[in-house]
Amino acid sequence: MLSRSQSRPASGVKIHYSFTKVMTGSDLSRRRLPLMAATSANPGPVVWLTACSHGDEVSGIVVIQELFKSIRRRLLLGTVLSFPLMNPLGFETGSRTISMSGEDLNRSFPGNPNGSLGERIAHSIFDTIIATGPTLVLDLHADWIDSIPYILLDHDPGILHQEAYRKAIAAGKEAGMCLIVDAEELKRSLSFNLLLEDIPALTLELGKPYVVSEANVTCGLEAIWNILANLGMIAARDRLFRYPLPFEYSRGRLLKYSDKPYGSRTGIIRFLAKPGNVVKKGQPLAKIVNAFGRHQETLTALQDAIVLGHSDSSAAFPGMPVMAFGIPDSSAGETEDNWQRLA
Ligand SMILES: [Zn+2]
Repeated sequence: MLSRSQSRPASGVKIHYSFTKVMTGSDLSRRRLPLMAATSANPGPVVWLTACSHGDEVSGIVVIQELFKSIRRRLLLGTVLSFPLMNPLGFETGSRTISMSGEDLNRSFPGNPNGSLGERIAHSIFDTIIATGPTLVLDLHADWIDSIPYILLDHDPGILHQEAYRKAIAAGKEAGMCLIVDAEELKRSLSFNLLLEDIPALTLELGKPYVVSEANVTCGLEAIWNILANLGMIAARDRLFRYPLPFEYSRGRLLKYSDKPYGSRTGIIRFLAKPGNVVKKGQPLAKIVNAFGRHQETLTALQDAIVLGHSDSSAAFPGMPVMAFGIPDSSAGETEDNWQRLA
């Protein structure tokens, strides 16, 4: 690690920027990951913020930069650590993956020091995080181009890791956004592997990729301040951030992720529901038309849900998702009851 700047202001918060080396290129250039740290003189929780493991999901970088602009005067206790740009190779080429190897970094954890390029970078990130004994890790991502910001919770990591999972849910409820339980089992994501190490972890999906979304930067930043305030790391907030949501989808209620129904025709998608809309079972979501504008099919909601986002493409193909939803599902409710019992 190389020290870039170091200072200890009157508030007792030390800001330290450094690097973690991850690889040497074919031209012998050294590639490093920027590492940011804000440490209070008062011991307390250790919270990690990570961003841009998918190189095209850029808003999280700016969320972290904005947070560090005021953390010096706001941090009362504990430490905030950050890898704001985990995949610089993907970022520079506008690519989700590590452009040199084509690997998805967020499907490479916990990593392997002797593995592929992606696994080696993942190992370096994972080891650095684990070594600090984190209280919570927030991994910042971006969803479809037209989508609302939400918190994504991994699937249940199993009976041995319930305490970490419960703490992740509790943190997610503080964020003031939709709290979505992932339907997929992403066994090699950063957040899931942290849960397997008994470290509470959440993913923040902050709207559109490719360009910094100032609106979503604000939402992500405010959600993180909510969480830090709840941990006592900053002063209690006069007014907690709450993303505007219909009543039944707010208050940290656990919702289940779904991207169904899928279309069965090839054609052009005309969206009939927008991100943030609440749809009722049977309500038209999108219609597929052919090149002459003739109706091919109408997709309707399989259940009551909130629309999280819709496809980045207007081209419809059979078996392709066109929208993502948060569903107030009964099994999500059971999960929630279980956590309340455990608490
Ligand atoms: Zn992502």
